[in-house]
Amino acid sequence: MKLAPELHSLLLELATAERAVNQPDRVSPEQQELDKLIADRARMADAASSAQLALGDMELEILRIQEDERKLKKRELDDKRQLSAETDPERRKDLEHDRYAAKSRIADLLSELKEAHNEISALRNNVDVHGARLDELDRKIELAKRAAESAPTPEAPKDPAELRVQLPADVLSLFDDVSAATYNGRMCGGCFLQLPPSERAEVEAVPADELATCPNCGTILIR
Ligand SMILES: [Zn+2]
Repeated sequence: MKLAPELHSLLLELATAERAVNQPDRVSPEQQELDKLIADRARMADAASSAQLALGDMELEILRIQEDERKLKKRELDDKRQLSAETDPERRKDLEHDRYAAKSRIADLLSELKEAHNEISALRNNVDVHGARLDELDRKIELAKRAAESAPTPEAPKDPAELRVQLPADVLSLFDDVSAATYNGRMCGGCFLQLPPSERAEVEAVPADELATCPNCGTILIR
């Protein structure tokens, strides 16, 4: 299909413009990276605060166990002191029973405490890991901010309609079927296939005022 050579690049512009219609936000890749990092940081901050809450709960749990243990030790000591003065057999039996119950509960609490200490070290580690990840994200965000600030604002996409009026109808109809992509002498920018030498020769044989298409995917190749 014939098309004046100076108009070929319009087809690439049109392909770019039509893609841009679907992505109306003019955001540089650097800004996109920054936005992604900020979203990652928000998720990480949530996870870090959950880790901190879990640690706080376990610290309270340990305090509760220690407080119970303190009360039970006092009760056990009271029982012991009363036993040393008590002579009534019924009363002694009650005191001995209570002292035994207190001792046995203390033993349970000690094993709970041991378990809680194991858990709390894992929870502290978790808090540290989240803190380190947040620090790392903050550093990355700082760098990404600088990159985004110095990145050029992407050019406003052209209006596809303004490009279309410059092209003949038969070319537009072909373009609407197969679109257009760059051709660097070896690879089709549409399907990213490296063309074999025989097909490259075919593409090269197309006169400069005609449109070549990719033998693989049919995309108009802009040479
Ligand atoms: Zn192709």
